[in-house]
Amino acid sequence: MSKKNILLIHTGGTISMKMSAETGAVIQNEQNPLVQEKDTLAKFANIIEVEAFNLPSPHITPTEMLALRNCIHEHANKFALDGVVITHGTDTLEETAYFLDLTTRYNFPIVLTGAMRSSNELGADGIYNLVEAVRVACDSEAREKGVLVVMNDEVHQAFNITKTSTSSVNTFQSPQYGPIGLITKKMVHIHHKPVRRQYVEVEKIEKRVALLKVYAGMEADLIETVAELNYDGLVLEGLGQGNVPPAVAKSIATLLDKNMPVVLVSRCFNGIAEGVYGYEGGGKSLEERGVIFATGINGQKARLKLLIGLNQIQTPVNLKEYF
Ligand code: ASP
Repeated sequence: MSKKNILLIHTGGTISMKMSAETGAVIQNEQNPLVQEKDTLAKFANIIEVEAFNLPSPHITPTEMLALRNCIHEHANKFALDGVVITHGTDTLEETAYFLDLTTRYNFPIVLTGAMRSSNELGADGIYNLVEAVRVACDSEAREKGVLVVMNDEVHQAFNITKTSTSSVNTFQSPQYGPIGLITKKMVHIHHKPVRRQYVEVEKIEKRVALLKVYAGMEADLIETVAELNYDGLVLEGLGQGNVPPAVAKSIATLLDKNMPVVLVSRCFNGIAEGVYGYEGGGKSLEERGVIFATGINGQKARLKLLIGLNQIQTPVNLKEYF
């Protein structure tokens, strides 16, 4: 069987870093160590390699995410691609994965991967994860599944995945749903299929959306400041099924009166936020006041979804339907 054509895009992160022998700090390399793995990867696919950036992932913003989307478009127009693999720092990997999930609609797999240990550390997991990501990107079973994340022998959907551990190689989990596939030495086994995919057309990201976590005793001032700073939207990680303290409810009303969209998710990582309680600050009262509930995604992804929605080409968008 002929080898598949895989576009491999590097963006930086621990997977491209090394640990300094003198200080013990994990630092960026002048030369990405992954680029020296050409022969290893050539056993699995024809690799078209692009070094898009060499950034730690806390430096990645929606601007870089959009540049990645454009990089995939350009290469898909030039080559007969069978799949895309992106190496990325793990801290914000889920956000880039979800951004690409919402803004691309290819049938071929787009797979993100990273590492928890840098290239010269004991038990480095970078090249292992990269090979697995290339194997998944080549696999016909992985087609039409949206953007995927491959780490530690598992395949996850961008929609569900989140970083759960600061340091474990097992950090990426899909709470509530689990992985959609697993990888063994001999095979890629995809055992679930996403039920829906959403596509949004964006050309630039100009609007700004803030994300705040709600806590017991939270006061109104932080939320009111979001309006004063001219943000275009706010996402709140609310309590339980989607509730907030009374002071927060009042400040949300101020924002809604200024026509600023307010989206609510739960700070619980399992379950779905919905309007149930009718007391002051209860989810049902918030919903009646115009707060939008985001189903099944965490705060950082809801923020990106609102940002993309506010920047989409076909505005005005019915945000309630969109969420
Ligand atoms: N801080 C690193 C980053 O996201 C962590 C990693 O890559 O695993 O760039």
